[in-house]
Amino acid sequence: MQGDDMRFNPKARLDTSRVRDGGGSGGSGGGGISLGGGGIGLPHIAGGGGVIGVIIAVIVILIQLHGGGSGGLDTSAFTGGSVGIVDPGQQFDYSTCKTGDDANDHPECELVAVENSLTDYWAHQPQLAASFSPEKAIDVFHGQTQTGGCGTADTGVGPFYCSGDQIIYLDPAFYTTVFKQLGGDATTFVQAYVIAHEYGHHIQDLLGTMSKVRTQQGQNSDSVRLELQADCYAGMWTAAASGTTDGTEPIISELTQQDISEGLTAAKIVGDDYIEQTMGGRVDPGSWTHGSSAERQAWFTAGMRAGNDIRGCDTFSAKDLTKPASIG
Ligand SMILES: [Zn+2]
Repeated sequence: MQGDDMRFNPKARLDTSRVRDGGGSGGSGGGGISLGGGGIGLPHIAGGGGVIGVIIAVIVILIQLHGGGSGGLDTSAFTGGSVGIVDPGQQFDYSTCKTGDDANDHPECELVAVENSLTDYWAHQPQLAASFSPEKAIDVFHGQTQTGGCGTADTGVGPFYCSGDQIIYLDPAFYTTVFKQLGGDATTFVQAYVIAHEYGHHIQDLLGTMSKVRTQQGQNSDSVRLELQADCYAGMWTAAASGTTDGTEPIISELTQQDISEGLTAAKIVGDDYIEQTMGGRVDPGSWTHGSSAERQAWFTAGMRAGNDIRGCDTFSAKDLTKPASIG
């Protein structure tokens, strides 16, 4: 299906200033909180001083099912060079990504193009206006990394946004291990969906939404509402992505129905009920932190229909999270 994947405008100029390869095994983890180490994958919202806001995209349930850490995940089995995603085995110099043409040729540069598109979209979102600033960085790491305020992260944690330093952390090995074990096929748009979701957490950070999170587990918990809203924001960008520019030139030349259906499949695969079932566990809504597959798909779709109005993503006011229109 590579031929149907999203394409970038060859003439678009890329801004690589916020995307970097952080290398591997950075930091000893001494004194830090090991994200993968103790089942603390849930969002930690500290009142007052040191704000720690760890929003794990996917892996919370896996960590718990595996009894802590990423020990149960086979992160050594890199397949490398998967179509459409950043090669987890290779460090990459992101400053070499100059144009949309590069993004069509290299998954690493595609990551830059998607980030540029997300930044352009949210910078022009009327309801954010003056409060907007882009995320500080997307840090692509390999194995383990030290965050600024969210402790030490390793591959098993999955992609996440750290509000302590406003950085999106991503070990691409996630796609070739965890995501693959769940039956997912990492395509160009799957990578875009994941980054768009994490970017959604950055938007929540800017809007102060993270401070609304009081309950961190359960079918109707604030954590689930926060996560579904990030999916909804990803949908908002998806619907408008083709209109984003580098200032003059469009960034994305083609985003097809095939891409959207890949996004919906990814949203299914990271649903709490799907993960519980796939990992051979019992479906236990009381343990949910991100929402069911159906809910994640429904809110991604709601975002696409929101018409650039973030109120269409008000998961916190929804009476029934399975029905995004049920704003109460
Ligand atoms: Zn998330």
